[in-house]
Amino acid sequence: MSPFESPRAGHKPRMNRRRTITIPVSPQPVTVIDHPLVHHHLTRLRDARTSPEEFRRGLAQATALMLYEATRSFACRAVQVRTPLAKVRGVRLGDDILLVPVLRAGLGMLEPALQLIPHARVGFIGLERDHQTLRASLYHKSLPADVGSSEIVLIDPMLATGGSALAALDLLRERGGRRMRLVSLVAAAEGITRVQRRYPGLLIFTAAIDAELNRHGYIVPGLGDAGDRLFGV
Ligand code: URA
Repeated sequence: MSPFESPRAGHKPRMNRRRTITIPVSPQPVTVIDHPLVHHHLTRLRDARTSPEEFRRGLAQATALMLYEATRSFACRAVQVRTPLAKVRGVRLGDDILLVPVLRAGLGMLEPALQLIPHARVGFIGLERDHQTLRASLYHKSLPADVGSSEIVLIDPMLATGGSALAALDLLRERGGRRMRLVSLVAAAEGITRVQRRYPGLLIFTAAIDAELNRHGYIVPGLGDAGDRLFGV
């Protein structure tokens, strides 16, 4: 059953303790974050009446909640600290975390990500989509020379045709990127499948897998052009 269908009477959806559902979209699973808070924000973002100011705030809130889940398997170092009363064992996140927003719309997810992981480094990839061919072309790139040991989080609110995600992942792989995950608020099955064909081990996190893409490559129902809505264009 899809996570967004209402359960039939007496039929319990299978959900794990973390309130996430793993949906098999061929050939690898995608983590769909099925949490009421995330869906509350997503619904506000989908609403065409939501102002850019509210959109920025809603995307930031949804991003923070999604990252909570998307970073769950991050490697941590065991450390010991001293409370005012005694020593206690704890953990510290690794030092080498790289956040990579795909410009423009990924910028709306950067600030909340840095709030959660202030020591992360940030790379930028600017991609523009040709509206005729739907091909993504690179207009900006600023990445560390070697990201082979980085825990990389690629952030882009929309995973539509998969063209931008693939272009960004290819750039990161050229720099040695191996430990990569993609966080997109809304995804289309077509984009997921394309990305997974080239990157079968990639971890993908989304709040919704929408029904289709229109002929302009927009996700339907989606939320429109995320960059335009963020920046009021
Ligand atoms: N990019 C967007 O901003 N929205 C879509 O629906 C697809 C790509």
